[in-house]
Amino acid sequence: MAIKMTVDLQCGACAALVHLTEPGPKFCPCCGAGFDRYCLKCRRKVEMFFEEWWPEDNECVRTYTPAKRCPTCNSGLEVETRESSRDDTKYNH
Ligand SMILES: [Zn+2]
Ligand SMILES: [Zn+2]
Repeated sequence: MAIKMTVDLQCGACAALVHLTEPGPKFCPCCGAGFDRYCLKCRRKVEMFFEEWWPEDNECVRTYTPAKRCPTCNSGLEVETRESSRDDTKYNH
């Protein structure tokens, strides 16, 4: 039985749902908040977590939400916005 998989991203700032495409969107089209989260203490990216639900037996809907806390050190995570990343040097390598 083929399973129909739907993947959405939910903005951590305004809670808008964005359908996941390839490559995945980096910023919320509604408010411009980034989906990536970085821990300032550990200096590494924190993966999003997801929840699944099954509206039908062969249909899965998975919703990814940005983590609010670092799973390693439990500190609050920085919300990267379109504005703050524009002059970010990490994209200039
Ligand atoms: Zn948003
Ligand atoms: Zn951390």
